Amino acid sequence: MTLNIILLGPPGAGKGTQAARLEDEHGMVQLSTGDMLRAAVKAGTPIGVQAKAVMDAGELVSDDIVSGLIGERLDQLGAETSVIFDGYPRTAAQADALDTILSDRGRQLDHVIELLVEEDALVDRITGRFSCGTCGAGYHDRYKLPKVADTCDQCGGHDFKRRPDDNEETVRTRMAEYRAKTAPILPIYDARGIVTRVDGMAPIDQVNDAIEAVLTPAG
Ligand code: ADP
Ligand code: ADP
Ligand code: ZN
Repeated sequence: MTLNIILLGPPGAGKGTQAARLEDEHGMVQLSTGDMLRAAVKAGTPIGVQAKAVMDAGELVSDDIVSGLIGERLDQLGAETSVIFDGYPRTAAQADALDTILSDRGRQLDHVIELLVEEDALVDRITGRFSCGTCGAGYHDRYKLPKVADTCDQCGGHDFKRRPDDNEETVRTRMAEYRAKTAPILPIYDARGIVTRVDGMAPIDQVNDAIEAVLTPAG
């Protein structure tokens, strides 16, 4: 069965970490607008040039740009591919756009998984976040160190990087954006009865178990 799910939660909630697990375990594909935008910035495309300052400030890139990216990326996937939306939608306009994007492609939204986290923990998570510069695998200075020091678990690479927007000041802006613009879209999905809330403060494996239970209910 083809699944379409949204992982929702503030910056640092663990969306990317959990999406990577679902990719590995179920062959689902993660569609992260943050990753797409960072790739555009790196490549210096017109979208990247436009988005860079907005991202560095921790504000939201325009709805049309991100919805356009999502539609394009979905078109590159087979109709049978299950997808995880990570960091999208982030506004009511994006939630509306996603409904159209999905229905135009014969897809429907199955689950919205909200990762519940304590805001105090998020600055700590984000300022400790780093990733493999070769394969993108995500790590944390204290919560998820590579098994062998300075060596990526996934690809053996030694080149790690940190995001320019992962500093305390920008994180505060990103959290405020989440509270003001993203959290208010939850009632739309609550009304459809498709939201499951998961304790995002639990260890990574436990969060994964809780999400698995949503995707493959017992019996
Ligand atoms: P998001 O994609 O929601 O912004 P990430 O998945 O990148 O968040 O996680 C942010 C940071 O917190 C990363 O460094 C990650 O390794 C770490 N992390 C993710 N989930 C947990 C967890 N359940 N407990 C502790 N640290 C976590
Ligand atoms: P995190 O999950 O840690 O908040 P992301 O990687 O999802 O970060 O996003 C990084 C930045 O990219 C955001 O702060 C914002 O500027 C931009 N961005 C990503 N996704 C969207 C989106 N759906 N709408 C608007 N801006 C976005
Ligand atoms: Zn790697």
